[in-house]
Amino acid sequence: MFMHNKRLMYTVRVSEPNPALASLMLEQFGGPQGELAAAMRYFTQGIADEDPGRKDMLIDIATEELSHLEVIGSIVAMLTKGTKGKLAEGADATADLYANITQGNGSHTLQLLYGGGPALVNSAGQLWTAGYIDSIGDPTCDLRSNIAAESRAKIVYERLINLTDDPGVKDALTFLMTREIAHQKSFEKALYAIENNFPPGKLPGHPEYVNKYYNMSQGPGDTRGPWNQGEQWEFVEQRHDQQAVDGGDGNATVRLAAAEMAAIEKVSQRTMSRPDANPTTGADLGAGPGAGKVKQV
Ligand code: MN
Ligand code: MN
Repeated sequence: MFMHNKRLMYTVRVSEPNPALASLMLEQFGGPQGELAAAMRYFTQGIADEDPGRKDMLIDIATEELSHLEVIGSIVAMLTKGTKGKLAEGADATADLYANITQGNGSHTLQLLYGGGPALVNSAGQLWTAGYIDSIGDPTCDLRSNIAAESRAKIVYERLINLTDDPGVKDALTFLMTREIAHQKSFEKALYAIENNFPPGKLPGHPEYVNKYYNMSQGPGDTRGPWNQGEQWEFVEQRHDQQAVDGGDGNATVRLAAAEMAAIEKVSQRTMSRPDANPTTGADLGAGPGAGKVKQV
């Protein structure tokens, strides 16, 4: 169950209305790295998790993310509040209202379509979608994805902080950014609290291929580093050692029933190309300057 407290998790002190800045803040309200996505990610993972400690952590953090959603949404609402009333009441000269809501960053959409309230869109108006959440129901995969999600959220907050001089907005954003660092730490700890967390899942990798590094892109810029050299790695450079690595002929085959075979042969007969043909085509007939070499018709 959920209960709601009237007080925000962090106090929002916005210096003055700024509809254009409000539109940018929507990135962390309804964007892919935003608070709604974070809350839904951890809430759905937590409901399904069998481990009591991890379940508790996921629901704690999901609930905190909803509280962050309330904070960032309140920042949007405060930044649009001045214009919202004047637009609803027609309380300003047309030209002044027009200038107020067309300061850029899609601020006119936020005012015209959403009435200045936080909408479930990102800073470019892209609708929020559950497709932002990539949970797969395996704790080592999902924790790794959560670590990445927290690190991305931290970076978007950092960029937003650099975009405003409003000290109150900066202060609240710094709190939200800091909490994403704390969440990343919790998820890192939870991942390594699972013994044998790598590789994910139950099946081991094939020993023949698990330590090989295939240098498939060759030329100037080839670089050796801990990701492809040292005792953990076998560096495979020869082209012939990178092809049909199983020792087979490198072709794709399948065993078919006689009827299936007959049908596929009919298809290939019907669609066979003739290497000896040189047909006249529309490109030849219509050829003008710049067409390159064409057949003389
Ligand atoms: Mn958050
Ligand atoms: Mn977070």
